[in-house]
Amino acid sequence: MRIAIISDVHANLAALEAVLRHAEAQGATDGLWCLGDTVGYGPQPSECISRLRDAGAKLVAGNHDRAATGKIGTEEFNPDAAKAALWTRDQITEDDAAYLDALPEVTHATPGREAPPAEAEFTLVHGSLRWPIWEYLSTYEAATAHLERQRTPFSLVGHTHMPMLVREGEEYPQGCEMYHLEDGARAQLDRQRRVVINPGSVGQPRDGDPRAAYAAYDTESGTVSLHRLEYDIPATQKLMEAAALPRWLINRLAVGR
Ligand code: ZN
Repeated sequence: MRIAIISDVHANLAALEAVLRHAEAQGATDGLWCLGDTVGYGPQPSECISRLRDAGAKLVAGNHDRAATGKIGTEEFNPDAAKAALWTRDQITEDDAAYLDALPEVTHATPGREAPPAEAEFTLVHGSLRWPIWEYLSTYEAATAHLERQRTPFSLVGHTHMPMLVREGEEYPQGCEMYHLEDGARAQLDRQRRVVINPGSVGQPRDGDPRAAYAAYDTESGTVSLHRLEYDIPATQKLMEAAALPRWLINRLAVGR
Protein backbone atom coordinates (compact mmCIF):
# COMPACT_ATOMS: atom_id res chain seq x y z
CA MET A 1 0.00 0.00 0.00
CA ARG A 2 1.01 3.57 -0.57
CA ILE A 3 -0.15 6.51 1.51
CA ALA A 4 0.20 10.19 0.57
CA ILE A 5 1.18 12.41 3.50
CA ILE A 6 0.52 16.14 3.14
CA SER A 7 0.50 19.21 5.36
CA ASP A 8 0.01 22.96 5.38
CA VAL A 9 -2.03 23.18 2.19
CA HIS A 10 -2.95 26.74 3.19
CA ALA A 11 -5.81 27.14 0.72
CA ASN A 12 -3.52 26.78 -2.28
CA LEU A 13 -5.62 24.61 -4.61
CA ALA A 14 -3.19 24.69 -7.55
CA ALA A 15 -0.44 23.26 -5.32
CA LEU A 16 -2.81 20.70 -3.81
CA GLU A 17 -3.94 19.50 -7.24
CA ALA A 18 -0.32 19.12 -8.39
CA VAL A 19 0.45 17.00 -5.33
CA LEU A 20 -2.66 14.83 -5.66
CA ARG A 21 -1.95 14.25 -9.37
CA HIS A 22 1.59 13.14 -8.60
CA ALA A 23 0.46 10.92 -5.72
CA GLU A 24 -2.08 9.27 -7.99
CA ALA A 25 0.52 8.69 -10.71
CA GLN A 26 2.77 7.10 -8.06
CA GLY A 27 -0.06 4.86 -6.86
CA ALA A 28 -0.09 6.60 -3.45
CA THR A 29 -3.87 6.29 -3.29
CA ASP A 30 -4.44 3.88 -0.40
CA GLY A 31 -4.75 6.76 2.04
CA LEU A 32 -4.40 10.53 2.26
CA TRP A 33 -3.27 11.90 5.61
CA CYS A 34 -3.13 15.64 6.23
CA LEU A 35 -1.38 17.30 9.16
CA GLY A 36 -3.36 20.51 9.42
CA ASP A 37 -3.48 24.11 8.26
CA THR A 38 -5.63 23.24 5.29
CA VAL A 39 -6.72 26.89 5.23
CA GLY A 40 -5.19 30.28 6.00
CA TYR A 41 -2.87 32.46 3.84
CA GLY A 42 -4.16 31.20 0.49
CA PRO A 43 -7.07 32.15 -1.78
CA GLN A 44 -9.19 28.95 -1.99
CA PRO A 45 -10.06 27.68 1.51
CA SER A 46 -13.46 26.18 0.70
CA GLU A 47 -12.18 24.48 -2.44
CA CYS A 48 -9.28 22.86 -0.55
CA ILE A 49 -11.54 21.62 2.26
CA SER A 50 -13.94 20.10 -0.31
CA ARG A 51 -11.12 18.51 -2.27
CA LEU A 52 -9.75 16.76 0.83
CA ARG A 53 -13.19 15.74 2.09
CA ASP A 54 -14.04 14.28 -1.32
CA ALA A 55 -10.77 12.36 -1.31
CA GLY A 56 -11.64 10.85 2.07
CA ALA A 57 -8.57 12.35 3.73
CA LYS A 58 -7.76 11.89 7.40
CA LEU A 59 -7.01 15.31 8.90
CA VAL A 60 -5.92 16.94 12.11
CA ALA A 61 -6.42 20.59 13.01
CA GLY A 62 -3.75 23.27 12.73
CA ASN A 63 -3.63 26.72 14.32
CA HIS A 64 -4.89 28.33 11.09
CA ASP A 65 -7.85 25.93 10.92
CA ARG A 66 -8.83 26.97 14.44
CA ALA A 67 -8.37 30.68 13.71
CA ALA A 68 -10.46 30.40 10.55
CA THR A 69 -13.52 29.41 12.56
CA GLY A 70 -12.93 31.77 15.47
CA LYS A 71 -12.19 28.91 17.86
CA ILE A 72 -8.97 30.68 18.71
CA GLY A 73 -8.20 34.38 18.35
CA THR A 74 -5.56 35.84 16.06
CA GLU A 75 -3.54 37.59 18.82
CA GLU A 76 -0.66 35.12 18.40
CA PHE A 77 -0.59 35.61 14.62
CA ASN A 78 1.60 38.12 12.80
CA PRO A 79 -0.43 40.93 11.16
CA ASP A 80 -0.43 39.36 7.67
CA ALA A 81 -1.49 35.96 8.99
CA ALA A 82 -4.20 37.58 11.12
CA LYS A 83 -5.53 39.51 8.14
CA ALA A 84 -5.64 36.33 6.05
CA ALA A 85 -7.33 34.43 8.89
CA LEU A 86 -10.11 37.02 9.13
CA TRP A 87 -10.49 36.97 5.33
CA THR A 88 -10.76 33.16 5.46
CA ARG A 89 -13.45 33.40 8.16
CA ASP A 90 -15.62 35.36 5.72
CA GLN A 91 -15.02 32.94 2.84
CA ILE A 92 -15.76 29.53 4.29
CA THR A 93 -19.28 28.14 4.59
CA GLU A 94 -20.95 27.13 7.85
CA ASP A 95 -20.49 23.54 6.79
CA ASP A 96 -16.75 24.12 6.23
CA ALA A 97 -16.46 25.71 9.67
CA ALA A 98 -18.30 22.83 11.35
CA TYR A 99 -16.01 20.38 9.57
CA LEU A 100 -12.85 22.23 10.67
CA ASP A 101 -14.10 22.57 14.24
CA ALA A 102 -14.72 18.83 14.43
CA LEU A 103 -11.12 17.96 13.50
CA PRO A 104 -9.07 16.43 16.32
CA GLU A 105 -5.71 17.89 17.36
CA VAL A 106 -4.14 14.45 17.55
CA THR A 107 -5.18 11.29 15.74
CA HIS A 108 -3.76 7.89 14.84
CA ALA A 109 -3.53 6.02 11.58
CA THR A 110 -2.44 2.67 10.22
CA PRO A 111 -2.37 1.92 6.48
CA GLY A 112 -5.33 -0.09 5.31
CA ARG A 113 -7.15 -0.44 8.61
CA GLU A 114 -8.56 1.26 11.66
CA ALA A 115 -6.38 0.28 14.61
CA PRO A 116 -6.95 1.40 18.20
CA PRO A 117 -4.46 4.13 19.22
CA ALA A 118 -2.36 1.71 21.28
CA GLU A 119 -1.78 -0.52 18.24
CA ALA A 120 -1.60 2.20 15.59
CA GLU A 121 1.49 2.68 13.47
CA PHE A 122 1.38 6.49 13.15
CA THR A 123 0.43 9.46 15.32
CA LEU A 124 -0.66 12.57 13.41
CA VAL A 125 -0.40 16.07 14.91
CA HIS A 126 0.10 19.56 13.45
CA GLY A 127 2.75 20.96 15.80
CA SER A 128 3.98 18.56 18.46
CA LEU A 129 2.57 16.18 21.06
CA ARG A 130 3.59 18.64 23.79
CA TRP A 131 1.68 21.56 22.27
CA PRO A 132 -0.40 20.15 19.41
CA ILE A 133 -1.38 23.16 17.32
CA TRP A 134 1.35 25.62 18.28
CA GLU A 135 4.79 24.14 18.85
CA TYR A 136 7.35 24.16 16.03
CA LEU A 137 9.17 20.84 16.12
CA SER A 138 12.45 22.33 14.97
CA THR A 139 14.87 21.91 17.90
CA TYR A 140 16.35 18.84 19.62
CA GLU A 141 14.62 19.91 22.83
CA ALA A 142 11.20 19.99 21.14
CA ALA A 143 11.94 16.72 19.32
CA THR A 144 12.90 14.97 22.55
CA ALA A 145 9.79 16.23 24.37
CA HIS A 146 7.65 15.05 21.45
CA LEU A 147 9.29 11.61 21.28
CA GLU A 148 8.74 11.12 25.05
CA ARG A 149 5.00 11.45 24.40
CA GLN A 150 4.94 9.35 21.22
CA ARG A 151 3.36 5.91 21.81
CA THR A 152 3.43 4.73 18.18
CA PRO A 153 6.58 3.77 16.22
CA PHE A 154 6.16 6.68 13.82
CA SER A 155 4.65 10.14 13.96
CA LEU A 156 3.88 12.84 11.41
CA VAL A 157 3.96 16.59 12.03
CA GLY A 158 3.64 19.78 10.00
CA HIS A 159 3.57 23.46 11.02
CA THR A 160 7.21 24.40 10.26
CA HIS A 161 6.72 24.10 6.48
CA MET A 162 10.12 22.34 6.35
CA PRO A 163 10.49 18.69 5.24
CA MET A 164 12.38 16.94 8.03
CA LEU A 165 13.11 13.64 9.71
CA VAL A 166 13.88 12.92 13.38
CA ARG A 167 15.08 9.47 14.41
CA GLU A 168 15.88 8.42 17.97
CA GLY A 169 19.11 6.60 18.72
CA GLU A 170 21.41 6.20 21.72
CA GLU A 171 24.43 6.90 19.53
CA TYR A 172 23.34 10.51 19.05
CA PRO A 173 24.47 12.98 21.74
CA GLN A 174 21.02 14.62 21.71
CA GLY A 175 19.23 11.26 21.80
CA CYS A 176 18.08 11.66 18.22
CA GLU A 177 19.21 12.81 14.81
CA MET A 178 17.33 15.49 12.85
CA TYR A 179 17.80 16.40 9.21
CA HIS A 180 16.16 18.17 6.26
CA LEU A 181 14.57 15.93 3.63
CA GLU A 182 15.61 16.89 0.10
CA ASP A 183 13.57 16.24 -3.02
CA GLY A 184 13.84 12.52 -3.78
CA ALA A 185 15.05 11.60 -0.27
CA ARG A 186 14.01 8.15 0.89
CA ALA A 187 14.05 7.04 4.53
CA GLN A 188 13.81 3.47 5.73
CA LEU A 189 11.51 3.14 8.74
CA ASP A 190 12.37 0.71 11.50
CA ARG A 191 9.86 -0.09 14.25
CA GLN A 192 12.69 -0.36 16.80
CA ARG A 193 13.49 3.37 16.54
CA ARG A 194 10.83 5.99 16.82
CA VAL A 195 10.73 8.41 13.94
CA VAL A 196 9.07 11.78 13.32
CA ILE A 197 8.51 12.94 9.76
CA ASN A 198 7.46 16.35 8.49
CA PRO A 199 6.41 16.19 4.79
CA GLY A 200 6.92 19.95 4.32
CA SER A 201 4.20 22.29 3.08
CA VAL A 202 2.00 21.83 0.03
CA GLY A 203 0.86 25.42 -0.24
CA GLN A 204 3.55 27.61 1.29
CA PRO A 205 7.03 26.01 1.45
CA ARG A 206 9.60 27.87 3.58
CA ASP A 207 12.88 26.06 2.95
CA GLY A 208 13.91 28.19 -0.02
CA ASP A 209 12.39 25.79 -2.55
CA PRO A 210 9.03 27.13 -3.81
CA ARG A 211 7.88 23.77 -5.14
CA ALA A 212 5.01 22.02 -3.33
CA ALA A 213 6.18 19.28 -0.95
CA TYR A 214 4.65 16.01 0.19
CA ALA A 215 5.72 12.55 1.32
CA ALA A 216 4.63 9.04 0.35
CA TYR A 217 4.79 5.96 2.60
CA ASP A 218 5.23 2.58 0.93
CA THR A 219 4.26 -0.23 3.30
CA GLU A 220 5.94 -2.91 1.22
CA SER A 221 9.44 -1.42 1.37
CA GLY A 222 8.80 0.36 4.67
CA THR A 223 10.11 3.61 3.23
CA VAL A 224 8.98 7.21 3.18
CA SER A 225 9.94 9.30 0.14
CA LEU A 226 9.87 13.07 -0.19
CA HIS A 227 8.70 14.76 -3.38
CA ARG A 228 8.81 18.36 -4.64
CA LEU A 229 6.54 19.48 -7.46
CA GLU A 230 6.26 22.52 -9.65
CA TYR A 231 2.81 24.06 -9.81
CA ASP A 232 1.26 27.20 -11.29
CA ILE A 233 2.47 29.71 -8.67
CA PRO A 234 1.33 32.79 -10.69
CA ALA A 235 -2.22 31.37 -10.85
CA THR A 236 -2.42 31.24 -7.05
CA GLN A 237 -0.79 34.67 -6.76
CA LYS A 238 -3.37 36.21 -9.12
CA LEU A 239 -6.23 34.85 -7.03
CA MET A 240 -4.58 36.27 -3.92
CA GLU A 241 -4.22 39.68 -5.58
CA ALA A 242 -7.88 39.63 -6.58
CA ALA A 243 -8.77 38.87 -2.95
CA ALA A 244 -6.50 41.71 -1.75
CA LEU A 245 -4.56 39.35 0.51
CA PRO A 246 -1.34 40.81 2.02
CA ARG A 247 1.48 41.46 -0.47
CA TRP A 248 4.13 39.50 1.47
CA LEU A 249 1.95 36.38 1.47
CA ILE A 250 1.71 36.66 -2.32
CA ASN A 251 5.43 37.31 -2.86
CA ARG A 252 6.73 34.57 -0.57
CA LEU A 253 5.19 31.79 -2.69
CA ALA A 254 7.65 32.54 -5.48
CA VAL A 255 10.72 32.29 -3.24
CA GLY A 256 9.65 29.53 -0.87
CA ARG A 257 10.23 31.60 2.28
ZN1 ZN B 1 1.08 26.31 8.35
